[in-house]
Amino acid sequence: MSRVRGEFDVVIAGGGMVGAALACALAQETPLSVAVVEAAAGPPPRREGFSIRVSAITRATEALFRNLGAWPAMVAERVSPFRSMHVWDAGSSGVLHFEAREVGEPHLGHIVENDVIVRALHARLAELPGVHLLAGTRPVAMACGPRGVTLETDGGRRVRARLVVAADGSRSWMRRRAEIAVRGWDYDQAALVTVVRSERWHGETAWQRFLPGGPLAFLPLCDHFSAIVWSLPPADAERLAALDAAALGAELEAGFESRLGAVEVVAERAVFPLRFFDAVRYVQPRLALVGDAAHTVHPLAGQGVNLGLGDAAALAEVLAEAAGRGEDPGALHVLRRYERWRRAENLAMLRAVDGFQRIFGSPLAGVRALRGLGMHLIQAAPPARRFIVRQAMGHTLHPPALARFGP
Ligand SMILES: Cc1cc2nc3c(=O)[nH]c(=O)nc-3n(C[C@H](O)[C@H](O)[C@H](O)COP(=O)(O)OP(=O)(O)OC[C@H]3O[C@@H](n4cnc5c(N)ncnc54)[C@H](O)[C@@H]3O)c2cc1C
Repeated sequence: MSRVRGEFDVVIAGGGMVGAALACALAQETPLSVAVVEAAAGPPPRREGFSIRVSAITRATEALFRNLGAWPAMVAERVSPFRSMHVWDAGSSGVLHFEAREVGEPHLGHIVENDVIVRALHARLAELPGVHLLAGTRPVAMACGPRGVTLETDGGRRVRARLVVAADGSRSWMRRRAEIAVRGWDYDQAALVTVVRSERWHGETAWQRFLPGGPLAFLPLCDHFSAIVWSLPPADAERLAALDAAALGAELEAGFESRLGAVEVVAERAVFPLRFFDAVRYVQPRLALVGDAAHTVHPLAGQGVNLGLGDAAALAEVLAEAAGRGEDPGALHVLRRYERWRRAENLAMLRAVDGFQRIFGSPLAGVRALRGLGMHLIQAAPPARRFIVRQAMGHTLHPPALARFGP
């Protein structure tokens, strides 16, 4: 498509972590012209303390950020490596401990504030030719024709493209407008997030304790700081979020069996409802879904955005190959290659994480005994531990080229 004002090959709705990464990948790997329509007026401003929204990112995601040239800006701002994971169960005697060095690696992944990721990707986007950012605006109408899609924005602007990509998050306007249904359910849990300072150092370990109401994670940030993700019945999450800092610190310390000593809450709190869903299809003619617009899962395994970034890398690779063959990026047979690649892989991970959530959420004595036994068996079996460590690092059978890492 010619680069007439308002006409692009690809328009991405949503310039969050996944949409911005996709835009960078398309600009870097393909000759396609790209526009990003983002509701926020600009990337989040830098702040003094920690932002409370963080992601545990895998080595595959780190490789993607490196290959997109965005990793140095994240490192310059703030990233925190974790080298081990420690999981224990309040309902049984089960304990699991995983170390990166078991597979000869220096670290398993990093904890990075979502705002740091978005800022670095937007800074990279601004350097890349061929990408146009329409910030502070959102689509309000979409008309699909045989040769392209026209979006109308709330500012009255018209944007045409051969392909539109929905990267506008779990409540995706684009997905609903395209009438793509989702299969899923509420977990009847909400995640309370904040940042704490602990008396003892976290040891660059991602800690997680499974409590009867849901998992409590301490994710290591720099020095003695940790990001908290505590999944609980929604009413409990709201009650805890309303406590003063000292009372919440005491609850966190008790829930965590004082593993890191006294806990001081040093940031505001927020509560997010938790939901599982998977879109019944990822593509239709001239439209593709990526990231949370396509799927969401419980945060207990820290997989959500890693899967979404895998979608972005895979879609960019499919579109680069299609562009090399002179194919239309919005043609259904091109988009199906992306769907076949990602949907099966994502579903396997979504189901595995959902299975863990059910097993660890069960109060039944028999299930608790079995999960304790299962944890002991895994802990005693180095091959099983190594398999889990590789999964946690983001190894998959068919990784996108941009997200490959290690031997
Ligand atoms: C408590 C919690 C902890 C988590 N921890 C982890 C973790 O450790 N590791 C991990 O991998 N995942 C984690 N996740 C999941 C992760 O946060 C999501 O998977 C991720 O944010 C999805 O990114 P996205 O870019 O697809 O969507 P979003 O982050 O929702 O971004 C969507 C973007 O689209 C924009 N937008 C929305 N609507 C429109 C519109 N109509 N038009 C234009 N723009 C629009 C928004 O402004 C935003 O910029 C966690 C989730 C929760 C709730």
